[in-house]
Amino acid sequence: ISEFEHVEPHRICVCVRKRPLSRQEVARKEIDVVSVPGRGVLLVHEPKQKVDLTKYLENQAFRFDYSFDETVTNDVVYRFTAKPLVHTIFEGAMATCFAYGQTGSGKTHTMGGDFTGKKQKSSKGIYALAAQDVFALLSQKKYSSMALDPYVSFFEIYNGKVFDLLNKKAKLRVLEDGQQQVQVVGLQEMPISCANDVIKMIDVGSACRTSGQTFANSNSSRSHAVLQIILRCKNRLHGKFSLVDLAGNERGTDMSSSNRQTLGETAEINCSLLALKECIRSLGQNSKHIPFRMSTLTQVLRDSFIGENSKTCMIAMISPGMVSCDYTLNTLRYADRVKEL
Ligand code: ADP
Ligand code: MG
Repeated sequence: ISEFEHVEPHRICVCVRKRPLSRQEVARKEIDVVSVPGRGVLLVHEPKQKVDLTKYLENQAFRFDYSFDETVTNDVVYRFTAKPLVHTIFEGAMATCFAYGQTGSGKTHTMGGDFTGKKQKSSKGIYALAAQDVFALLSQKKYSSMALDPYVSFFEIYNGKVFDLLNKKAKLRVLEDGQQQVQVVGLQEMPISCANDVIKMIDVGSACRTSGQTFANSNSSRSHAVLQIILRCKNRLHGKFSLVDLAGNERGTDMSSSNRQTLGETAEINCSLLALKECIRSLGQNSKHIPFRMSTLTQVLRDSFIGENSKTCMIAMISPGMVSCDYTLNTLRYADRVKEL
């Protein structure tokens, strides 16, 4: 924690992360159409055709707080995105980090990490890295005197319904009281005493998320997963860090990819991602009206969009292949709209 140099984060930080071409993509000679020439810049070289059928590349530039190329590790992405927000929850405010992008672009790799082959080649994701830093700060003198108790919850929002990933996917109700306080009734909040406790729960919850899934029915690409690290002081909510692995955003651009997906599911995902954009934008504009009731996702994250000290970070994930070019541009335009004005 000596390198815990604390820079005050923006209210809204928007970053982009390009993943490398996969081995399969390289094998089928997929062309990489994304480049990252500078710290915050990302270029898409979109293949186009003139009327006389000659082909050319149209370069489109996007600018974000940070852009990470395919050589950047989870640790580095974490250090520039979620890490500065860990302080926020100790200071008694809400922090939220979103992974946005098409299915296969690296959202779960970034948030949950990769544990393929178990011991070797495993890399921690933002969930585990944030949990480690929460415990590092809890042991600092400045905070250890505050009697803060850490908890974790992990749930999934699928088709507008909430399922508890730490309680066998129990279906939960979302209630709003007269003060607009939103409550997920019966959501398990597990007390934790070390980062390893969290890592165990991430494993349990992630396995629960993907259980009963087949290739043709991969619910995880159609659901939002929300891991929350909660700090309570004498049972009162002190701060909350919500780490969100969003549903794939590809539905808006291509209906044919929505294999066996109902129209209702498509509409729900589009609606929740639209709602999310609007809510983050109203946070950036300090607007009093936050349209959080537009979707279950924004409803359960209502706390993230209110309060002067709330901080949000979005990481837009990009697949580099030419086949994904339309999705990639779609993702970048969305992220561009979320940026603070
Ligand atoms: P998503 O959750 O967006 O659908 P995943 O995180 O499952 O996508 O990533 C798809 C595949 O690409 C996985 O096999 C993952 O390990 C790999 N991958 C994603 N991002 C990276 C990266 N930055 N470096 C190496 N492999 C990656
Ligand atoms: Mg995923």
